[in-house]
Amino acid sequence: MTRLPGEHALDQQVLRKSNERWRLVGSRCASCGKVFFPPRTLCADDLTKCEERLLSTQGTVYEASHIRVAPVGFTAPYWIAYVDLPEGVRLFAQLDWRGDEPPRHGDAVECTVRVVRTEPHEVLGPVFTGPQ
Ligand SMILES: [Zn+2]
Repeated sequence: MTRLPGEHALDQQVLRKSNERWRLVGSRCASCGKVFFPPRTLCADDLTKCEERLLSTQGTVYEASHIRVAPVGFTAPYWIAYVDLPEGVRLFAQLDWRGDEPPRHGDAVECTVRVVRTEPHEVLGPVFTGPQ
């Protein structure tokens, strides 16, 4: 069985299919315009109610690290990275890096959604791909 983040009562819905494509779900403050991921009900800065918003599928690498010894449920080797989205959000996610050189700060990447963990059950999550 494959689960989505957000299916558990304690999780927030962070992925949604839109036009046959998975998108990250964030929120935007109606007052100051700050964008949050995962989505928030109230703005962290001014407590104004936030509106749900689908986030960009394009981002840039802030920093990346190569994982050679994986925890249970993950298959090494793989890359992980902090990725900055144009909305001002920074995510920590897996990186499917296909370049000959290691990823560098500022490299363009695209968000896809794949199985990111296999135990105790499959879980879908964001995986950024690059180079673009
Ligand atoms: Zn705000």
